Amino acid sequence: MKLVRLFFLGTALLVARFSLAKPTTPLVYEVNLNDRTDDQFKVTLHVTGLTAENAIYQFASTAPGTYQVMDIGRYVRSFKAFDAKGRELKTKQVSTNQWKFDQPQKVSTVQYSIAETWDTPVNEHKPYNMCGTSIEKDHVLINGQGVFGYPGGMQNAPIDLKIDFPAEWSVGTALEKNDKGYFTAANYDRIVDSPILLGRLTKATTTVAGAQIDVYTYSKNDKIKSDQLLTNMQSMLTAAGQFLKQLPVKHYTFLYHFEDQDWGAWEHSYSSEYVIKEEEFSKKLADNMTSIAAHEFFHVVTPLNIHSEIIQQFNFVTPTPSEHLWLYEGVTEWASDAMQLRGQIMDLPTYFDEQSQKIAYDKSLDTTYSLSKLGLTCYTDEGQRQYGNIYARGALVAGLLDIRLLELSNGKRGLREVINELATTYGPNQAFPEKEFFTIFTQKTYPEIADFFNRYIKAAEPLPFSEYYGKLGITYALSVPTGQKVPSMGMGASLVDNKFLLRTVGDSLRKAGLQEKDEWIAYNGKPVTMETIGAIQDEMKQQKAGDVYELTVKRDGQEIRAKSTVYEKELVRNYQFQLDPQATPQQLQLREVWQRNL
Ligand SMILES: [Zn+2]
Repeated sequence: MKLVRLFFLGTALLVARFSLAKPTTPLVYEVNLNDRTDDQFKVTLHVTGLTAENAIYQFASTAPGTYQVMDIGRYVRSFKAFDAKGRELKTKQVSTNQWKFDQPQKVSTVQYSIAETWDTPVNEHKPYNMCGTSIEKDHVLINGQGVFGYPGGMQNAPIDLKIDFPAEWSVGTALEKNDKGYFTAANYDRIVDSPILLGRLTKATTTVAGAQIDVYTYSKNDKIKSDQLLTNMQSMLTAAGQFLKQLPVKHYTFLYHFEDQDWGAWEHSYSSEYVIKEEEFSKKLADNMTSIAAHEFFHVVTPLNIHSEIIQQFNFVTPTPSEHLWLYEGVTEWASDAMQLRGQIMDLPTYFDEQSQKIAYDKSLDTTYSLSKLGLTCYTDEGQRQYGNIYARGALVAGLLDIRLLELSNGKRGLREVINELATTYGPNQAFPEKEFFTIFTQKTYPEIADFFNRYIKAAEPLPFSEYYGKLGITYALSVPTGQKVPSMGMGASLVDNKFLLRTVGDSLRKAGLQEKDEWIAYNGKPVTMETIGAIQDEMKQQKAGDVYELTVKRDGQEIRAKSTVYEKELVRNYQFQLDPQATPQQLQLREVWQRNL
């Protein structure tokens, strides 16, 4: 059973190709992290030359690659503007994320406090922790949109950032410093694209295929160190280099944060940030981190180098979805597995197992919800309920697209080759037209691909695993009985909107009064939360047939308790891929090219 699915995020933060506003003097921010009282960041902005056009100070409604509404204005606790002589000027909050200066021409300093997102309760739309902010005794996490805003019209103004922090701390970030010791960012997008982790960190550095790789780690109880993670990641980075022909960046920074909750990772142009539950270091943990890092690292290709115009000029005021989320997240998740398979650091059974898990996840959601629709509704509550499927169905569809392309090109050009070509055609500064991308992709490849997009991305037809994997001499079976008896509780749950909902309910639990979609809140009296779920899963795995257990659920505000008994059932493996011993030479040939970088 796999309950807590990690969230993989991706972002494309780009230096805008055309400047929207006239060139401006930098916005100079100061953040004093020596004062960490009240879980709030104390921020000062120095600015001159504002005009009526800049009268609205904007906090972010969302951020690239998060595909969620954040409404950072909700965390602002005080907001004041002053003139050059230190006299307070009138300001007014005019919407959730906007404050208005009465006399923008006179504004010289803006001061505000903004609460961290991690420990500040909100009624809805809590930002994922890897995209949020945390301010603690021994460390701080800054994701730019959680601390900074910008005066209207100045999204493209350069930013200088001075951070005061305890002398014994170190800092991990992809941002560079100027000669005054301030971090510098070309614009607001870049500061959002560059998380900063400060505190008691370990650091490790290496060079892979000409690129400098830095790893910074905060581990609450010092259980996990940067060099352990980096050592394990080396072969993945080499495999990524082979898959992409060359690493697309000269410098990349991994920021790891290990504390008490599993959240996932958020990807940026030159760095990525991971928020993971701390445990004793093990090969398994390192492999898991490497696998997530493979996903995040591949985002440097898409969306960074292949993205729609909607992402190119990111809208921080109003969340604006792109239909091509299947490309940014689905293709990325496929590539992170494919690059490991082809780099021979993931074996075929593990690759098949990854596929099976993704199919199971897809089946746990609404399978009639197309990937296009998921992209276009990702900022809505309805879309958020399906969101996790972009990593499952999205990756499965990318895998099928790869097979179809290999078949149509007689094994000469798969999805990897087309993606690498597209990255060269577009690159970081040129967007594709949102509405025409399916046509462009089809013209670049084969007319049959239009049909593929229509059926499996724009619509949600059942995915043709048997037919497609059959082309590779790989069989697919919906269920394979094993003859092996295993203990079962007859229940399954999924994490939806930060709640654990029952997904499957066996007969005895149903008789005891439970049903699908009940919110699971306790196991044997212990609360089920993001913090406790790992330990509860471990406990559940220890159960034997005949053990009695109790589940507590919530339905329409009412708590319901149900007792049941663990029983034995035959282990049936679902969604199984296997090599076909009777594969034809033609199938074997296509399988051979499918398994390596062409
Ligand atoms: Zn991603």
